[in-house]
Amino acid sequence: MHRRISLVLLLFFTTSSAAQNRFDAARLLTDLRTLSSDDFEGRDTGTPGGIRARDYLASAFDSIGMEACGSDFLHRFMFSGRDDSTYEGTNVIGLIPGAENPDLYLVVTAHYDHVGIRNGEIYNGADDNASGAAALVAVANHFLNHRPAHSIVIAAFDAEEKGLWGAQDFINDPCVPKDGISMNVNMDMISRSAARELYVAGTGHYPELLPLLSNLRENRPLTLLFGHDTPGTGRDDWTYASDHGPFHREGIPFVVFSVEEHPGFHRPGDDFEYIDAAFYLDAVDVILDALVLLDRNLEAIRLINER
Ligand SMILES: [Zn+2]
Repeated sequence: MHRRISLVLLLFFTTSSAAQNRFDAARLLTDLRTLSSDDFEGRDTGTPGGIRARDYLASAFDSIGMEACGSDFLHRFMFSGRDDSTYEGTNVIGLIPGAENPDLYLVVTAHYDHVGIRNGEIYNGADDNASGAAALVAVANHFLNHRPAHSIVIAAFDAEEKGLWGAQDFINDPCVPKDGISMNVNMDMISRSAARELYVAGTGHYPELLPLLSNLRENRPLTLLFGHDTPGTGRDDWTYASDHGPFHREGIPFVVFSVEEHPGFHRPGDDFEYIDAAFYLDAVDVILDALVLLDRNLEAIRLINER
């Protein structure tokens, strides 16, 4: 079982107005709008729209000065579809070396694929998950300008909708030494919540993270909630609902930021015009705060699952 340890809490405080300057909000919204435009045809894995999204993210990662993880940003992998045929997917992965302990890695993930075109209708997947994919660029840009203590892997995964295949490929064949992978922070649907509620799930499995992340709830324009990580609660349990699942299965601590299912979920109406831009910026802001805290505490976090 998990070894219980107490985290050394290295807190920092920031006001949200100052925080708003930590990433380029206009670019973030442009990236989300672009990735969820009809040109990308719902970003189904291996389709022209999916490949366009892949190339858009690779060039965004390159344009902000991030280095590739391994020899290339693009990491191809094969997976079997529901029809038992073999398909190819491609993860897009960059690396930001840590300033103090570059041998430990915080892996920040979001899937960029979605479900494509069905019955002639484009499923643009603005919230699911152009929102998370665009946030990867903003997060990377921040840490390139404010060097993290530990290395940060920025991974846009493919074929999540087909069964978390991109994340599984990263676990099977990571572009950094596997024993240095200390935590996963996943983002999947972070731009749309009528109640202005953002969940951070995973602390049910890794309760050591709860006091640390609880500090992020103060003075927020959105409500940060814990939960959705109790096994046996069906669709309410998000433990294996997205790309953090393969990390958890390996015993790597994770949290996932996400919203409750909304009317656009896996429907053609998951469009840019229905996202809540202010909520989205606030969500990326709190995620950035979480990443700074988790980076500062990564040595302690990696001990959570040491047996
Ligand atoms: Zn998703």
